[in-house]
Amino acid sequence: MVESDEINPVDVKHYNVDLFINMSTKTIDGHAQILLALTDSNATQFYLHLSTLTMADAFINNQKASYTRSSDKVYFEIDDHASEIIVEIDYAGTPGNDGFGGFFFQNNYAFTIGQGLYSQPPSMLRHWIPSHDVPFDKATIDLHLTVPKELDAFANGVLVSTTVENNTKTFFWREQHPIATYLIAVAVGQYAKLGMPFVSVTGDSISLEFYVFPNDVNNAQTDWANLPRMLTFFEQNFSSYPFDRYSMAQAYNRGAMEHQTMTTYSHELITGDNRYDYIVAHELAHHWWGDLVTLGDWKDIWLNEGFATYSEALYFEHIYGDDYLAKYMEALSEIYLAEVARRGHFALYDPEYMWGGTVYQKGAWVLHMLRWTIGEAAFWRTLQSWAQCYAYDNALIPDFIAIAEEQSGQNLQWFFDQWIYRAGYPDFDISWDYQKNSAVGYTVTIDIKQQQWDKFQFIAPVEIEIETATGTVVDTLISSSQQQQFQITLDTAPARLIIDPYNWLLKQYDIVGNPAPPGVRPNDFYLAQNYPNPFMQGTKTAIVYQVAQLNSPHALSIKIYNILGQEVATLIDRSLHGGLYNVSWDGKDNTGKNVPAGVYFYRLQSQKQNIEKKLVIFGN
Ligand SMILES: [Zn+2]
Repeated sequence: MVESDEINPVDVKHYNVDLFINMSTKTIDGHAQILLALTDSNATQFYLHLSTLTMADAFINNQKASYTRSSDKVYFEIDDHASEIIVEIDYAGTPGNDGFGGFFFQNNYAFTIGQGLYSQPPSMLRHWIPSHDVPFDKATIDLHLTVPKELDAFANGVLVSTTVENNTKTFFWREQHPIATYLIAVAVGQYAKLGMPFVSVTGDSISLEFYVFPNDVNNAQTDWANLPRMLTFFEQNFSSYPFDRYSMAQAYNRGAMEHQTMTTYSHELITGDNRYDYIVAHELAHHWWGDLVTLGDWKDIWLNEGFATYSEALYFEHIYGDDYLAKYMEALSEIYLAEVARRGHFALYDPEYMWGGTVYQKGAWVLHMLRWTIGEAAFWRTLQSWAQCYAYDNALIPDFIAIAEEQSGQNLQWFFDQWIYRAGYPDFDISWDYQKNSAVGYTVTIDIKQQQWDKFQFIAPVEIEIETATGTVVDTLISSSQQQQFQITLDTAPARLIIDPYNWLLKQYDIVGNPAPPGVRPNDFYLAQNYPNPFMQGTKTAIVYQVAQLNSPHALSIKIYNILGQEVATLIDRSLHGGLYNVSWDGKDNTGKNVPAGVYFYRLQSQKQNIEKKLVIFGN
């Protein structure tokens, strides 16, 4: 587990840092004591990361040590091959940032964000603490923050003590659990402190704390009110909450960042209407996927962001049900496809862009498809085992594959090869038709072509539903080559084919051919006479219609009007791919009341064509 970086024979065990934060000069003054093990007895030097800040004397085991600096590294010679050494560094200056991550002063607040969006690698602790600033070297930390005494200073772990001296106050924070350097953070300023009671699934109380700008207290109370539900859901399905406290600190940052035990959350996201619940859930989920189990290399960023993004979907599924999950996945797929349109295709492993639709949204989709592939029970066991096997540790994608294979009993190399190590998604052209058999029933023929940009053939299970007059037939067609034909036998004639009705496959598709009513061509709009007609109040009538084959989904509506031309019901109002569909009407108006018996008109309206037909309802 080595970051693509120079080999460094260092394993940090513990940081003990005194940091004086000067709010008026926007500078810091630090003293860091770093307990580390040397992991290679033949090595002649090691380094720590430190950007731009000025270094005074440095000591190794209390002996003054010479060092050389080069870009953001400080090199030390190894004289003493003791297995553990203590490095002490005095440093000071104006701490840096990359516009997203690093150290910031704003409006008498100071805060840090551990991940930079514009730095490679994204580790940002080097801007304010000398450290082995790589994701795989976790350590514990004691942080003594000295600030003007009217301010608060928050950091990771638990508050051990506060001391007031003259005009300053020192907050001693201790994270006793191993923490990756990019998850270390501070938030300093004038805060309102709120709390919420929470009892873990273990029966222990966990401190839930919020640090909010005084003007935003009411909005934050609304926006963060669902945290206990989220926490309970994740505890019940991943593992009990693995740290001593969970808190959220408002800051003048952008977005949000899952610093261990203290998520930093932008003032722009506090709106008082819960619209960013998905971000609240996302950062909390990172406390398992990122903080407890940390990526061993930035190339494995999927393990952090894909998992946290899918955890949003899992939480919303828990609250709102499976239909909502299908819609949520559709929305994630649109975000991913928008990134592909902008930046092109690239793989999830070692991605060209770490902070976008491929890593986050396609990343979530890979877990969603894994869930379909290995089934509910094995999927949840995989997540639980992942949290358990690598707790407080680091791991890489092959470690996750091994756990998923172990929990499912399946060889999944093909799955991860195509979804993680290769770019893209299946892009289908689908056509279908049916014939009446000479004996009984009907044979439906479905042709599926894979039309990917790079000619790679996915193994893609395509769930289908065929609607007939008497019910629905469900099947799964495994598309695994450029062109395949599938046949299904039915008792009654099919009316409509639905591709992937529950949204379990990341894909795009076009219906390029479908059975048309006699005399109707695929590039026509068509509206059939309803059946039955007339129909009785309290029963239903079905309306078959066809959307013309166009390059993209087409907006259309089907509405019912009374004889005065007043709209009474909307049956369809959305964009649809070309194809044959049916919709039923139960004789109720838009408020859910039965309409009076009589004559009505139903009208298909689109930009290309309007078609109107008449129907009749009988009273009881
Ligand atoms: Zn994230």
